[in-house]
Amino acid sequence: MHINFCKEANCGRCKYIRLGDSWRTKTPLLQPQWKLDVSCLEVSMKKLVDQSWLEECFDDDGRWQGLGCIACSAARPKLSKGSPANARSFADFNVSSANACQMSNLMRHHAMDTHKDAVMSFLGMPAKYDEFRGSPRLEEFKAVFDAISTGTAPSAGIDGVGDKNKIVKMTFCLAEALTRQDRAFMRDALMSSHRRDESGGRLAIRCSATTSSLACRVFHQSTQRHFGTGATNITMATEKAWREFATVNYGCPRPKQSIGILQYDEDFFNHLRTIHRQLVIDSASDERTFKVDQKMADALEKYIMGKRGIIHLIGCSDVFGDWFEDFVKVMSPDEALGGLVRNLGMAKHRFSSITKRLGRFVGKIGAVFLTAQKIRTARAGRAEADVAEQFLAGFREDEYLLLSMMSDAADEAYCFTTFTDAEDMDVAIQADEVANFVENIEYLFLEKNAHKLTYTYTSFAISQLAKTVNVNAGKAKRY
Ligand SMILES: [Zn+2]
Ligand SMILES: [Zn+2]
Repeated sequence: MHINFCKEANCGRCKYIRLGDSWRTKTPLLQPQWKLDVSCLEVSMKKLVDQSWLEECFDDDGRWQGLGCIACSAARPKLSKGSPANARSFADFNVSSANACQMSNLMRHHAMDTHKDAVMSFLGMPAKYDEFRGSPRLEEFKAVFDAISTGTAPSAGIDGVGDKNKIVKMTFCLAEALTRQDRAFMRDALMSSHRRDESGGRLAIRCSATTSSLACRVFHQSTQRHFGTGATNITMATEKAWREFATVNYGCPRPKQSIGILQYDEDFFNHLRTIHRQLVIDSASDERTFKVDQKMADALEKYIMGKRGIIHLIGCSDVFGDWFEDFVKVMSPDEALGGLVRNLGMAKHRFSSITKRLGRFVGKIGAVFLTAQKIRTARAGRAEADVAEQFLAGFREDEYLLLSMMSDAADEAYCFTTFTDAEDMDVAIQADEVANFVENIEYLFLEKNAHKLTYTYTSFAISQLAKTVNVNAGKAKRY
């Protein structure tokens, strides 16, 4: 033992041998008053937190060199010449004189900011030692996350966590944490595509992006509100959303001092613009495909969409719907359409619902006629009978044919929008899909093939128009 042989009257190593254990209990790496949540630390680091930072060190020849700090030693490369001498000597394990090897000197090091920050980085905490002070614990964040994941804002606060104000701040922290990951990914991304979905004065923007190593990420980028209507306003709202995305801490509730300061990054914003390849807009109010042409719009209004249209009438009433369904079964008993047929009344503003109604009108025209007759007879003298009469008397073959061609076009468009609407749309084959869509439309209409193909609405409509059915008490009417 060194003590037995040591001749020095005042030896640092001797003091460490006698008092080291006591010193070490007073110099834990993680200081209790920081109140840090260690549950997020890596397992190997968790074992270290209660240990002391104080260690002794021997040089290459096996001679005792002195005492030092394992955390400051690890952070040694970061220490500048200007940093305190105390910090540097502990980092180099050069604390060896009897004068330096005493409790007051150790406690001085223990209390230094340089040392505290070194401990934080040694344990893998990405912050200065006092930034986490008083911050909510991991379990509390989990409670908030679970609460907001149910879809309703916990406006009354959460028991055991805090009041509304605290929850709002914690919710922001969770959101910002996710956004920072998204931002980090986007910095490496080479290409991005954005899908905008506008409805009811709100605009949701989802982004998907790819890096050079083919890593993909899809995330919700922004929700915008109160931006007005029309293409220009939507475009402006999109730019605003990107600028917000390029601003660290955007949306921070009551930022103060160094915490929550907004940091807008113009370079990052320009990067977002550079890698951007494609913008998809699904704007409910802009689905006016059929309204471009007056004849189409009129036919659509007369039979399908209008308040006095036969399809509207059938769709609005359960009784008429039942009649219609019965007629469909009678006319095509082998078709197992069942409940599908009934669903004529659907949200008007969705393109696909219009096309569904349109398709059913064209495809089930026989049942539509029989239903209209039944309404006219059974509800004679009432407003419904008028609508039915108007349809039976005002039905025009050319309009029906036009609607059938619109159905074919809509079918193509529907397949196309379903493709572009899909979350996992493959940008690579997109050009092919566009070309395919254009080609099909050209083939059907410009090259006039719609009526020649077997399974088109148009050819079906022509076959229906060739039939004659006896309606209206002996008066023959073709439909
Ligand atoms: Zn000694
Ligand atoms: Zn230290």
